[in-house]
Amino acid sequence: MEEGLGQNSVPPHGPIDKSKILDIKPLRSLIPIYSMSSQAPPAGQYPSGFSPFFPFGAPQQTPTGVTTRGAATPAPLRAYKNPLGAGDSSSTMNGFNGQDTSGKKKRGSPSRHTKSSVNKPKKSQEPPADLSGLVGISPAQREDGSREVVNIVLMAYDALRRRLCQLEEAKELSSGSIKRADLKACNTLMTRGIRTNMRKRIGAVPGIEIGDIFYFRMELCIVGLHAPSMGGIDALHIRGEFEEETLAVCIVSSGEYDDDAEDSDVIIYTGQGGNFFMNKDKHTTDQKLQRGNLALDRSSRQHNEVRVIRGMRDGVNPNNKIYVYDGLYKIQDSWIEKAKGGGGVFKYKLVRIPGQSSAFAVWKSIQKWKSGSPSRTGLILADLSNGAEGIPVSLVNEVNNVKAPTFFNYFHSLRHPKSFSLMQPSHGCTCIKACVPGDLNCSCIRRNEGDFPYTGNGILVSRKPLVHECGPTCQCFPNCKNRVSQTGLKHPMEVFRTKDRGWGLRSLDPIRAGTFICEYAGEVVGRGKVSQLVKEGDEYVFDTTRIYDQFKWNYEPRLLEEIGSNDSTEDYAMPYPLIITAKNIGNVARFMNHSCSPNVFWQPVVYEENNQSYLHVAFFALRHIPPMTELTYDYGLAQSDHAEGSSAAKGRKKCLCGSSKCRGSFG
Ligand SMILES: [Zn+2]
Ligand SMILES: [Zn+2]
Ligand SMILES: [Zn+2]
Repeated sequence: MEEGLGQNSVPPHGPIDKSKILDIKPLRSLIPIYSMSSQAPPAGQYPSGFSPFFPFGAPQQTPTGVTTRGAATPAPLRAYKNPLGAGDSSSTMNGFNGQDTSGKKKRGSPSRHTKSSVNKPKKSQEPPADLSGLVGISPAQREDGSREVVNIVLMAYDALRRRLCQLEEAKELSSGSIKRADLKACNTLMTRGIRTNMRKRIGAVPGIEIGDIFYFRMELCIVGLHAPSMGGIDALHIRGEFEEETLAVCIVSSGEYDDDAEDSDVIIYTGQGGNFFMNKDKHTTDQKLQRGNLALDRSSRQHNEVRVIRGMRDGVNPNNKIYVYDGLYKIQDSWIEKAKGGGGVFKYKLVRIPGQSSAFAVWKSIQKWKSGSPSRTGLILADLSNGAEGIPVSLVNEVNNVKAPTFFNYFHSLRHPKSFSLMQPSHGCTCIKACVPGDLNCSCIRRNEGDFPYTGNGILVSRKPLVHECGPTCQCFPNCKNRVSQTGLKHPMEVFRTKDRGWGLRSLDPIRAGTFICEYAGEVVGRGKVSQLVKEGDEYVFDTTRIYDQFKWNYEPRLLEEIGSNDSTEDYAMPYPLIITAKNIGNVARFMNHSCSPNVFWQPVVYEENNQSYLHVAFFALRHIPPMTELTYDYGLAQSDHAEGSSAAKGRKKCLCGSSKCRGSFG
């Protein structure tokens, strides 16, 4: 398992068995990643101090026989220049990544480069196996996706990325490894055929909805929304009967230089080239009407639809960007402007095609509500939790005159009359300060099969039979990163009135996949009491004994050659059934509605208090959730219903989730 992961690590010190190194070119032939690019990399792409030089072991197999510009550049670097796996033909370094669609596809021919890995020279001759079937993608779906396929690809990507982060963080103890799990995950998936919408197109991309959010440029690549992994302009090369043309099909707007702050439907986009992005004031050379600029110029005459992705600052991680798909625009105008340094800069005015649902405009509105001007329409209460949460939970009704939910007491956790003893009683871990990933002396980490369940920024890596968190009995500091579900809400929430399903819950912030949302707070009741509660019409029962639809969220171990690993089991192992009612006391979770294709899932979490283990139900984001999107989870089926067949179900409700996979009823 380690072998496949050493791609990004620093080569070991000391003697290297040179007989095992295949076809490594001298270091001096490595070309710096930006040397051919006149444009600065997008912010957040590379952590400071990151060096793209990896002489050994980086992945270099690609499914296509891409034409290489001389043999001077060893393949490992290419994986970082163009993590598309070169599947998109003539890649250029600054990302203007035009594609020839004349049908001359070279897909499938063996890579000219052989994989030179210190660890695995034998693998060098084998083309990467097509594992797309493993995650449920057919060759046709690789060309043209759908909502379902896009979700499968994005889930597979993030699951793999999280796992790579986890492994790297565990290794960090001993080696200063370089983190680019996002690139590695992308490269792995692309070479294994796990991607979609490879067929380039003008206009909307199947399965991608306006408002969808992405946390990595690589995510845009693997779902075919924007092919270049770094460049701002994606273009399509069209060979017509008489002439050929390159049209811009998608742009990523950084939001820093080219946003018109006032009008959310207009973007003034700056062309590429010159040294404009390196230093605005010293921009002395004229940008040239070539490549990306030429494509934009052609598009301004053709008036073709151009997809726009807005790069927004991530409030949780200010160094990161969140990419919001803002729908289709057309270029209305273009001109040349003189920069301060005297160089000419191309400017393009893009205007949003009317009638599309809002995306960027929603973000703008939220910013305004947060600053208090104008105040949120329909706002009933600024903080429903009355200070019980560190972050406000607003109550909003824009639909009708209902002023408040039925009375309940806000409480952030469980009233837990019952505890259970572990088979082997334990007193928590004895770590000093915080528990450290990879430290097997920590008893809490050992209980998680040696894996730290969360990444450094608190994202759940995998669904587990049971997640063991540190608790009050542990000696580590309360800010130990193995206490995620005990740290309260992360995002400002809104309890809002839905059109037809009573109150619902949503977040004002975007939520990244794997983020802890809240636990199911309430009173724990005995199993025998469930039917009585249901008879009494208690709509706020959470019952872990229900039958829940299976779904895959974890990474595919075979992609990391972790064969035989059963780490990816997603079946929960509850030490005892947990039944909670939030009718009288509870938190925001009691407002989350059911959906047959939810964006939130629950995960059992256990930690110790007073040497007793207590079980909790923690909710995590199943995928990236755009702001103002209703949060939903699968309520599951009562076991008796399941046995009798769904038609005989009593007390079940008609499902109004509206998803294409709706089962019709729930409860
Ligand atoms: Zn700890
Ligand atoms: Zn510990
Ligand atoms: Zn602990």
